[in-house]
Amino acid sequence: MPGNRVVVYKGPGKVAVETIDYPKLELPDDVVKGLGIKKHAPHAAILKLVTTNICGSDQHMVRGRTTAPVGQTLGHEITGEVVETGDDVLFVQPGDICSVPFNIACGRCRMCDEGKTGICLNVNPARAGAAYGYVDMGGWLGGQAEYVMVPYADFNLLRFPDRDQALEKILDLTMLSDIFPTGYHGAYTAGVTTGSTVYVAGAGPVGLAAAHAAQLLGASVVIVGDMNEQRLAQARSFGCETVNLAQGAELSELIEDIVGEPEVDAAVDAVGFEARGHGKDAAEAPATVLNDVMAVARAGASLGIPGLYVTGDPGGIDAAAKIGQIGVRLGLGWAKSHAITTGQCPVKRYNRKLMNMILAGKAEIAKAVNATTISLDQAPRGYAEFDRGEARKYVIDPHGTVAA
Ligand code: NAD
Ligand code: ZN
Ligand code: ZN
Repeated sequence: MPGNRVVVYKGPGKVAVETIDYPKLELPDDVVKGLGIKKHAPHAAILKLVTTNICGSDQHMVRGRTTAPVGQTLGHEITGEVVETGDDVLFVQPGDICSVPFNIACGRCRMCDEGKTGICLNVNPARAGAAYGYVDMGGWLGGQAEYVMVPYADFNLLRFPDRDQALEKILDLTMLSDIFPTGYHGAYTAGVTTGSTVYVAGAGPVGLAAAHAAQLLGASVVIVGDMNEQRLAQARSFGCETVNLAQGAELSELIEDIVGEPEVDAAVDAVGFEARGHGKDAAEAPATVLNDVMAVARAGASLGIPGLYVTGDPGGIDAAAKIGQIGVRLGLGWAKSHAITTGQCPVKRYNRKLMNMILAGKAEIAKAVNATTISLDQAPRGYAEFDRGEARKYVIDPHGTVAA
């Protein structure tokens, strides 16, 4: 049996590529013990990775901003070729190239029944919802690797219809495992529709994906805010307006300069709990973006909150922030009757439709997020550059498939 090389968290600011065992058709011990279910997983498949992306969500762990232990394997944005299937897998076969939703879901519980695959009840004894290679998410091995095991394969895998076409569009299709559906979920749950004016906080890959999704949903104006000028230039490259929050002006005034009024129809938080305050070199202020989106969304608006908030943050700015309690001015949004959608994006709700948009040439997500391919050995460098705020989405190519 070959081994399996995987990216591992080695302590704040450090990741390394290490060799672990080749995956088996078995559930993780945490899940087996915690839920009292069989270890043997005939419903699972082994995938040979085609691409696997680095995410801002990984960076929270690597910056030491979660309770992730040293040795945590990383990677939840997985696209791969099926190389082995268990006896109960009926509809995907070796040779199929598939996108893997980052949420692991059983396809058999009440939440999965309702399409809420981000909060499946049978994949993580600690809480609802699971993911590959993530702290508190069930102990599933990470997919920034050569191989990965995917449980409940018939339910979780999205098979690409044509292999050659898939490889041709792989840098777009690789975004279906997380950020394209996540950005879309942000815009969709913010109620973006034909003619909407939209504010997206954050010009990282998720913010750029939300901005592109808002365009696809028919927004008249999409405004992206960040303090990183290089990332704002990336947003302008595909037709967004931008506001640079390092300049210190009021966000509502910057918005008024663009749309003629200080509010927008829909707003998306694509930043999360590591948000910084406004102004040059402003310190971290975790509730900034939640307060921003409530301040600038019109009365009756919906807010999409894909940005991640945690229940435990060793690096939090104060004792309250360390347990995820941050200074949200809820009255701002309450007074405007705002509706709010939080949580993991239920990827399966959108990935097939967005795949169709990519294959039909109607969505250009790789271009929007500046997809940049690196090898598995270059992962530590990719993490460091991404952490410095490069305007890129790093795509790891563990077997040289994309390079070829
Ligand atoms: P990222 O870290 O690359 O991007 C965040 C951006 O926010 C940075 O460019 C930063 O400069 C900017 N920023 C900081 N403070 C700001 C402020 N006050 N206003 C505007 N911009 C500000 O991360 P990403 O990969 O784009 O992910 C964004 C968030 O989405 C993360 O919290 C990530 O964990 C989360 N996420 C959630 C889901 C989900 O299912 N809900 C899925 C993927 C990622
Ligand atoms: Zn991700
Ligand atoms: Zn389920």
